[in-house]
Amino acid sequence: METIELNSKITKIKINENLNSINFYRQSDNIIFEEMPAPNYIQNIAPITNSAMNTVINSRQTLKNILDGLDHRFIMVVGPCSIHDPIAGFDYAKRLKKLADQLSDTLYIIMRVYFEKPRTNLGWKGFINDPCLDGSSCIKTGIRKARQFLLTINELELPVATELLDPNSLLYLNDLISWAAIGARTVESQPHRELASALDMPVGFKNNTNGSLDAAINGILAATNSHSFIGLNNNGDSSILRTSGNKYGHLVLRGGLTPNYDKLNVAVAEKKLDEGGLPRTIMVDCSHGNSLKNHQLQEFVLSDVVQQICDGNSSIIGAMLESNIEAGNQSIPSDVTKLQYGRSVTDACIDWETTERILRQTYKKLKQSVKAENHLMREVI
Ligand code: PEP
Ligand code: MN
Repeated sequence: METIELNSKITKIKINENLNSINFYRQSDNIIFEEMPAPNYIQNIAPITNSAMNTVINSRQTLKNILDGLDHRFIMVVGPCSIHDPIAGFDYAKRLKKLADQLSDTLYIIMRVYFEKPRTNLGWKGFINDPCLDGSSCIKTGIRKARQFLLTINELELPVATELLDPNSLLYLNDLISWAAIGARTVESQPHRELASALDMPVGFKNNTNGSLDAAINGILAATNSHSFIGLNNNGDSSILRTSGNKYGHLVLRGGLTPNYDKLNVAVAEKKLDEGGLPRTIMVDCSHGNSLKNHQLQEFVLSDVVQQICDGNSSIIGAMLESNIEAGNQSIPSDVTKLQYGRSVTDACIDWETTERILRQTYKKLKQSVKAENHLMREVI
C-alpha cells in the first residue's frame, strides 16, 4: 500500500525544555507532535462535488423524514464492520448500490463506511489511524484516503453511515456523511454527545456493551440540547463551538450480554423512550450482542425484527447488518499482501450472496405486509 505524506513538519519536543513551568507528561518521555493539516486543507484535496453534495443533502433529509414518520421506508444500514481496503470497499459499494436501487420503494439502504474502530483493549484502530495496517499510523494518508473514498461512494449516489469516534477527525469528513452512530463504548461520553448536538444528520445512540439503555437514552436527551465546548474550526484553530441541538437522535439496540432485539426488549425500550419524553424511534443492530458475535445469526435477528413490524410494531425504523464480500473475518497478517480480498479484519460479516438474499426477503415481506403498510402511516409522536 502506498503512503503519501502531506507537507509535514515533525516537532520533537523534549518536555522539560519546552514547558518551563509544569510537566504535563511523564518526566522521562519525549512526546512527538507531528503537524496535522487543517480540515479545510484535506477538504480542498478532495473537494465535495455537486453530485456528492446532492446525495448527502437528499439522504439526510430522507432519513429525517423516516424518523419523523413522513417517509414509510425501512432504513437498512448495511456494510462492512470496517473498511480496510478501499478497492474492495468500492467493489462492495457498487453491488450495494445496484441492489439499493432495486429495493428503493420499501428499503432505504445506506452503506456502513466505518473508518475508526473502538477497541475493547488493543487492536487495529481503523483505516484513518493506520491505513497501511502495519502499525505505522500514517494518519494524514488515512484521513485523505478516507475522504476520497467517501466522496467516491457519495458520487455513486449511495449515502454513507459511520461511527463518530474521534471528535477531531469528523471535521475532515462530516460533509460526506448522512448518518452517524455513537458506539456502545462511547455512548456515555460527554464530548460525543456534544458533537452529536452539532450535527445536521440523524445520530444513532447505541445501548452500552452490558446492555443497559440508560446511557443511550441520556445521550439522546443530552444531544437534543444546545452545548458549548472546545473544538476545532475548519482552519484547525482551537475554537468554542456553540451548538443548537440535534432532534434526530435515536436509539440503536445492539444487544449486550444477551440480545435485545426481541418484542419484549423492544417494548422495554419504547417505555424508556416514553419516560424520557423522546420519540419512539428504534434501530436494531442485527450484529454485535444481538447476534452473539456469530455473523450467521444476523439473518435470524433481521427476520424477527421484520416480523415484529409485520405484526404492527411502528417504532422500529431500521436495522443494521455487518456485511462484506466474503463471510467471516481474518486477522491482519504481518505481511499485508497476504490479506484475503473482501474479508473483514474486524468483526465477522455475512457474505454478499447472503446479504443480497436477506435484503430481498426483507423487501418482499415488508412490501407484502398489510400491517407494514400501517407502519407507513406511523403517527408522529
Ligand atoms: C461496530 O458497529 O462495528 C461497533 C463497534 O459497534 P458497537 O459500538 O455496538 O460495539
Ligand atoms: Mn462491528
